[in-house]
Amino acid sequence: MESFHLWTIGCQMNKADSQRLGSALEQLGLREVETAGEADLVVLNSCVVRQQAEDKVVGHLTWMKPWKSNEPGRVVALMGCMVGAKTDDLARRFPFVDVFMRPQQYGPLLDLVGERVGLDWEGCVGALAPAQPDVTCYVPIIHGCDLMCTFCIIPYRRGRQVSRPVGEVVREVELLVHRGVKEVTVLGQTVDAYGLDLPEKPDLADLLTQLNGVDGLERIRFLTSHPSFFTGEIIRAVADLPKVCEHINLPVQAGDDDVLKAMRRPYTRQEFIDLVGRIRDNIPHSSLATDIIVGFPGETEEQYERTVDLIAELRPDKVHCAAYSSRPGTVAGRTMEDEVSKDEKARRRVRLEELQEGILTEINSALVGQKVDILVEGRRDGKWHGRTRSDKLVFFQSEDEHLGELVNLDITRSSPWSLQGELTQQYVHLHP
Ligand code: SF4
Repeated sequence: MESFHLWTIGCQMNKADSQRLGSALEQLGLREVETAGEADLVVLNSCVVRQQAEDKVVGHLTWMKPWKSNEPGRVVALMGCMVGAKTDDLARRFPFVDVFMRPQQYGPLLDLVGERVGLDWEGCVGALAPAQPDVTCYVPIIHGCDLMCTFCIIPYRRGRQVSRPVGEVVREVELLVHRGVKEVTVLGQTVDAYGLDLPEKPDLADLLTQLNGVDGLERIRFLTSHPSFFTGEIIRAVADLPKVCEHINLPVQAGDDDVLKAMRRPYTRQEFIDLVGRIRDNIPHSSLATDIIVGFPGETEEQYERTVDLIAELRPDKVHCAAYSSRPGTVAGRTMEDEVSKDEKARRRVRLEELQEGILTEINSALVGQKVDILVEGRRDGKWHGRTRSDKLVFFQSEDEHLGELVNLDITRSSPWSLQGELTQQYVHLHP
């Protein structure tokens, strides 16, 4: 066995898990390849948060069947949220899959690969941080979630919250910086609940303070926050620590109290508005992203309108809007009728997206003429791109090498989804 291909779908946690598994496989001597066709091992890292994601995984698995039967020595592994505690049903549906692994459960595959290549992986695999990371890198700091939102399958698949100790996270970030990383995004399903399960009870503010002291690290981001855990200490840490970016990802999910209750989100619409007010009062220039689910079981037109009003009032910088999708095994999937029609859900989603587009057109056009700093993450279609501290995507043209640089730009053009800029005189002065 010489090569592997990793196919990943879903959230940033899945992307981070794939990076870490890829690092372990490379430490066992395997080489990552671009396509499944060239690989000896294919890992599908799955997501079942929505039916659409699960359908894509099943589509890939269907494609893997002849791939495997043409050369039975090849290995197929299915990882991620599609894999529950019991795998009998999956094994019956997909008998050609060699290994099933729950999220972060790398052992079964590493055992198999270790056997094939004649190595004891526990002796060979060290830190799971990516060996050749990009300029920006995800660092999981919490696995699992202790909440039980009625629509969500994640606690059943990723288990209860387990935070990594502060020292372990800091050492991993130092290693990543040594390997060229300039920005880390620390990840958790409820990242602001970080540390509540640890004996010393450090919180996210403590961790951000420690990470702010890592030499060579330029920026720190964190996601996803939960409104119930976003304390004054965290707000102060974001306001005071120079490396922590002022971008808050805070899903509200709905703007109506009865829908929030049915979702088992433990806050009210007003409490969310007050929290956003505290964030904006204390963190100048902060940007806000949120998630909305439309068409939750029983959501009336009136209740939906309250969500629309909330978005119009708060004017977030990003709204990730999804139509409710019933997931077997969740509380809502077991006990609630998925009664809002598909067409109606689509209408509600599209209307919210149109509202968001209008808000973003205004917010972004106000940035034209301003100067911003971005961290350059890569090059696409002949232009460099990176993000502002507030998470705005900006493109600029230059023939020079800029990967990993913090550059200062004049914003010249805007659209709802990105900005265009030019290097400023300040930049030219600093980089003669
Ligand atoms: S907070 Fe709710 S939506 Fe987020 S992972 Fe936990 S259960 Fe799922």
